[in-house]
Amino acid sequence: MNDIEHYDIVVFGGGKAGKTLAMDQAAAGKRVAMVEAGMIGGACINIACIPTKALIRSAQIVETARRAEEMGLVRAGPAKAVMGRVAARTAEVVAGMVEINRHAFEASGLELVLGWGRFTEPRVIEVATEAGPRRVTGERIYLDLGTRAAIPPIPGLREAAPLTHVEALTLDVLPARLLVVGGGYIGMELSQAFRRLGSEVVVIEGGRQLAAREDADVAAAIQDQFAEDGIELALEARIAEVAGRSGEEASVRLADGQAFTGSHLLAAAGRQPMTGGIGLELAGVELDARGFIRVDERLQTSALGIWAMGEAAGSPMFTHIALDDYRVAKSGIAGGTRTTSGRMVPYCVFIEPEFARVGLSEAEARQAGIAYRLATLPMDAVPRARTLGERTGFMKALVAADGDRIVGFAMLGAQAGEVMAVVQMAMLGGLPFTALRDGILAHPTLAEGLNMLFAKVGPAGEPLARRPVSAVARMSAE
Ligand SMILES: Cc1cc2nc3c(=O)[nH]c(=O)nc-3n(C[C@H](O)[C@H](O)[C@H](O)COP(=O)(O)OP(=O)(O)OC[C@H]3O[C@@H](n4cnc5c(N)ncnc54)[C@H](O)[C@@H]3O)c2cc1C
Repeated sequence: MNDIEHYDIVVFGGGKAGKTLAMDQAAAGKRVAMVEAGMIGGACINIACIPTKALIRSAQIVETARRAEEMGLVRAGPAKAVMGRVAARTAEVVAGMVEINRHAFEASGLELVLGWGRFTEPRVIEVATEAGPRRVTGERIYLDLGTRAAIPPIPGLREAAPLTHVEALTLDVLPARLLVVGGGYIGMELSQAFRRLGSEVVVIEGGRQLAAREDADVAAAIQDQFAEDGIELALEARIAEVAGRSGEEASVRLADGQAFTGSHLLAAAGRQPMTGGIGLELAGVELDARGFIRVDERLQTSALGIWAMGEAAGSPMFTHIALDDYRVAKSGIAGGTRTTSGRMVPYCVFIEPEFARVGLSEAEARQAGIAYRLATLPMDAVPRARTLGERTGFMKALVAADGDRIVGFAMLGAQAGEVMAVVQMAMLGGLPFTALRDGILAHPTLAEGLNMLFAKVGPAGEPLARRPVSAVARMSAE
């Protein structure tokens, strides 16, 4: 059997958290090996954030072209997506970022061990490289294994060979009619993109609303937008059976008898950690009931000397959170005290209008027993939104009932992610909401809407805040 290679640090899985830690530590002079199955740069740049946003950009341009006349322009004919070219552009954006990562890996001095890895002894990972098996071990081992699209156990679904985001992002034919199973963030982004590229789209969602984690007013506004886009929605849909095959003809039958037929089927119904079949039990790494790695707030697993980061460690499923896991891991190596506790989790959903949130939603505030003052502002009231012709949506802020603290902010509107970052900076700096109410913000920007939004926050202790939590809950359900 080949010899075991010894390193200071072995990173198992080269996602955002893992690759950043590996490069950082290698550049700092440690001997680092990174085991990666084949995606140089991890999921984000190869099959997730970057290709989705590239595809969405093509879809946005189709939509902008459709609205040309509204903007006073002459339209020669309808803009039409040529899927082969859309896919080629997406692939080009990805390839460019892969190259940047490849160079950065080389420059850092890390040892990239390409191939599928699995523990064969408590601290030894065997990697099936093209040149044959290699066995690596490290003083410290960091797992960053990521997740893959889950295929729920619905009769006929797996046999229908549904697309996941991976295949959907490389399609060079436009689905004539796309059935999307799941109305979460990924389902929403891809549904709207394909609709705008020219597909008929049906979203089939088991919950009462799209975007299950968001307040009902946000979900209702997104659903209205989707209806306007011509996307069919089936909510509270219990799928009884799937038949046929994606790419030919596939049909979804619901328990209530409704049925939908499409040319393609897309599974966007949750994520599953990549923790099975790789000997984690040999290493003494405990998993929870759903297969995610159990870690403490410093990302230490149940096995001494093994840490886990990113989605497979149960961290919120965003690249910027995986990056923060890297910061926690790095702090641990340096003897620091950074943890994952109490961190802010901002996020953005790249539909149009864009959705972004930081801090608590109303539902979360109520659940946590936090009394709040609520202010909302329609995007139509923001001058910049009018000049852009992007007047749909609203901003929403929650301010503590008994003080000036900003508790949460959500926005459905143009450039929501950028505006959210302004509020997040205020929250990070511990600024009172009055700083955003009274600070001078440039005109006409979208962020200027924050002046107007926070001017609508009522006085502390106003009637809404004094009502018992149950009454507040009733009001917002009305
Ligand atoms: C369609 C889609 C769109 C998204 N859009 C956004 C977005 O806009 N913004 C955002 O913040 N987040 C987005 N996300 C989430 C984001 O992609 C992830 O949160 C992020 O990539 C997680 O990184 P990670 O560090 O957990 O690991 P990953 O990037 O998943 O990396 C894990 C790595 O481990 C490797 N690996 C796993 N098992 C083995 C093994 N046994 N041997 C060798 N290698 C192995 C894999 O090949 C992979 O490269 C999106 C996700 C999807 C699916």
